[in-house]
Amino acid sequence: MRLVLLGPPGAGKGTQAGLLAAKFDVPHVSTGDLFRTHVAEETPLGLEVREYLSGGELVPSELTVALVAERLGAADAARGFVLDGFPRSVVQADALATILTGLGKRLDRVLEFRIDDEIVVRRLLARGRADDTESVIRHRLRVHHEQTESLLAYYAGHTAVVDALGEVEDVARRVLDSLGA
Ligand code: AMP
Repeated sequence: MRLVLLGPPGAGKGTQAGLLAAKFDVPHVSTGDLFRTHVAEETPLGLEVREYLSGGELVPSELTVALVAERLGAADAARGFVLDGFPRSVVQADALATILTGLGKRLDRVLEFRIDDEIVVRRLLARGRADDTESVIRHRLRVHHEQTESLLAYYAGHTAVVDALGEVEDVARRVLDSLGA
């Protein structure tokens, strides 16, 4: 199973990606988590990207694409993956297509999580991650609307829409229904 999850920060993609990864026994690949690990470990990449993360800006695509190419090429991703937080722009979506072609694979499905911005702001303030201050959250939402929404047109025809409002189990049920699983 090769899935991409799209949607704004705070839509619950990470939680649902974790559940899907466990169900299909494939890795959950979150570029945000990969970057946060690099930042925490103060690797050269971590030092290079930490200001982007703290400001809610997108990390330059060359860095992001290289990270994803390496991760999707790893042995445990051979059977599939759940991508969460990537791609975030049409440039990245083109890069993903190239990576997959190189691996001789294709995406099975794109899920778009829909939720209201104000609910996202409330949810993320409650979560309290380092980049979860109100101004950074609102900035991340703006970046999402400006750069990531163009992906919906890019993937039109492959996308299933999931209402992301509600309890984790209810959203999980909708996700599985949308996959016919
Ligand atoms: P997330 O955990 O998906 O909300 O990502 C947290 C932060 O990591 C984002 O605000 C960006 O700074 C960075 N990031 C994650 N994924 C990407 C991506 N695909 N492209 C660029 N930056 C990203």
